[in-house]
Amino acid sequence: MIKRIDDIVLIQLSGIDSNIYLIDDVVIDSGTGFNFTRLHSILKVLKKGFEDFRLVVNTHGHFDHIGGNGYFLKAKTAIHKNDAPIIENGDNKLSWADYFDGKLKPRKVDMKLEDGDVIKAGNLTLKVIHTPGHTEGSICLYDEKRQILFTGDTIFSDGVGRTDVPGGNEEKITESLAKIANLKVQKMLPGHGNPVVKDASKVIQDILSASE
Ligand SMILES: [Zn+2]
Repeated sequence: MIKRIDDIVLIQLSGIDSNIYLIDDVVIDSGTGFNFTRLHSILKVLKKGFEDFRLVVNTHGHFDHIGGNGYFLKAKTAIHKNDAPIIENGDNKLSWADYFDGKLKPRKVDMKLEDGDVIKAGNLTLKVIHTPGHTEGSICLYDEKRQILFTGDTIFSDGVGRTDVPGGNEEKITESLAKIANLKVQKMLPGHGNPVVKDASKVIQDILSASE
């Protein structure tokens, strides 16, 4: 399924794949990699091919977000430095690949992100916000001017991210959510499920007060 949020394309392949976002020649999360044919035909509909992308940014190192990285043949890989070893070592435990019946091959990480780094993606200027808790190297990506926040698995449109997963830490996610709560957000684009396309700050506030 394809959804358009302004100049951002959201691809949802299946119930277990992460949301895949395309912004010009940048990909945010790549899904499990199990649904190659479907992804290929969706890209075709968009008049794009795997080779048209220059960068894949992963919001964290779980298999359902990084499994498809290798399809984007010419793209560099970017992930927070704390989750980079998961990809570099092909870590089937910390990536949770076992849970998805997947197998992770060790791959090179080209950019090890840190809090405050800035990534240009089409017309978006995305600031990296380190939000550990779902994993050690989870990040959100924030365009301050357009008030767009990509949240990975830190927060969704209907609740907060799980911490009972490899790399999870309850205390850290609470701190990370407090960081996000202060941002002005119109559109929230999470790692699974529906995006919030207006007044996302209000949704974030509601979710956080309900989870206290
Ligand atoms: Zn995850």
